[in-house]
Amino acid sequence: MCCLHETDHAASGRGRQSLPAGPAPTSSTWKRCPGSSEGVVIFSVPEGCVHPQSPTGAADVIVGAGLSGLTAAYILARSGACVVVLEARGHAGGRTLTRSDDQGPSVDLGATWSWPHQTRIRHLAQTLGVARFEQYVEGDAMLDLGPQGTERHAVRSPMAGALRSEHGAEALSTRLAVALPAGSVKLGVQVTAVQVQGDTVLVTATGRAGEAKTFHASVVIVALPPRLTGQTITFTPELPSALTQVLSATPTWMGHAMKAVMRYDCAFWRAQGLSGFAVSYTGRPLQEIHDASPADAEAGALFGFFTTHTGVRRAPAQERQHQAMKQLGRLFGPAALHPRSYEEMRWKAGAAVQYRTG
Ligand SMILES: Cc1cc2nc3c(=O)[nH]c(=O)nc-3n(C[C@H](O)[C@H](O)[C@H](O)COP(=O)(O)OP(=O)(O)OC[C@H]3O[C@@H](n4cnc5c(N)ncnc54)[C@H](O)[C@@H]3O)c2cc1C
Repeated sequence: MCCLHETDHAASGRGRQSLPAGPAPTSSTWKRCPGSSEGVVIFSVPEGCVHPQSPTGAADVIVGAGLSGLTAAYILARSGACVVVLEARGHAGGRTLTRSDDQGPSVDLGATWSWPHQTRIRHLAQTLGVARFEQYVEGDAMLDLGPQGTERHAVRSPMAGALRSEHGAEALSTRLAVALPAGSVKLGVQVTAVQVQGDTVLVTATGRAGEAKTFHASVVIVALPPRLTGQTITFTPELPSALTQVLSATPTWMGHAMKAVMRYDCAFWRAQGLSGFAVSYTGRPLQEIHDASPADAEAGALFGFFTTHTGVRRAPAQERQHQAMKQLGRLFGPAALHPRSYEEMRWKAGAAVQYRTG
């Protein structure tokens, strides 16, 4: 039978004591499996990467319910494996995060685009029935020169050809999670340690209320940003030093990003022959702006990346919003001053599990 062994801290290991001890683990116990993508480092006991039916009855544990972890879980579950995904935050999706509410169209506070040459994400979107559409790029671009004013240029947005998911990028994560057997994704469980014990792997975690949790796994897939893995999870035996160095040397993509998303009744800039793409020389406060309207353009939306300037990032949120509105008014006219909604997401500060920048 394939099942998850979860115990409280006190009971940790109980019922496992009769397992054969096996050879003493060393750092060479850990294998980085061939085919691991950058975001997914697969650690397994030496027999192989995937144990669809574990001889010990333990589940395949995946750490992190972002797109990588959920995809791994989906593939394993389809092959018949019993999977459990442990997620530190209160919701799945990781850096795909879409705000959908009655304020208007769905908007991405995290990842937005994929590209036509990315065949795996295309296949995933097709499999999950997530429709994609091209980023709107028709029209001129705006340049913000700060005190010197603005300039309009007949320049195409560099995002020409990029694809967006209908209902936002998180739709991919949501559909993956829904496709897993009920209860597979455990939220509010932050993994702190992964330890080989005989022929199983003991995963130690902290629950929402700070309580200790343990899970016995046949295989553990760590699907976290590599640097975060190195910084926050203790491995026993220790990981090989070459791998530790790679983990700490791999920056978390967009880990520093801070976004503002504005929703409007309509994409009024399009009627002015503007694509919604703008760049700011001063980066005060937004340094790059794009159209974020839905595929049917029934409503409008813009999003911008904030500058990394600490003065802007540390300013009170109200002051930052005020500055962003003034900037949008300069670039797109008075209609930009009054969005239906305004929202910010600072990934480092906004994450339940903080991502180191750089
Ligand atoms: C603002 C922004 C814009 C972006 N734009 C794009 C884009 O347009 N196109 C693109 O391709 N990419 C973009 N990215 C990057 C993209 O979002 C990521 O590469 C991708 O989502 C990574 O997925 P992942 O599953 O590997 O990691 P993550 O999404 O980071 O998932 C890791 C998960 O693990 C959880 N976790 C962390 N530590 C623990 C722990 N100890 N125990 C349990 N769970 C833990 C986290 O909470 C998270 O849910 C963007 C990112 C951001 C932030």
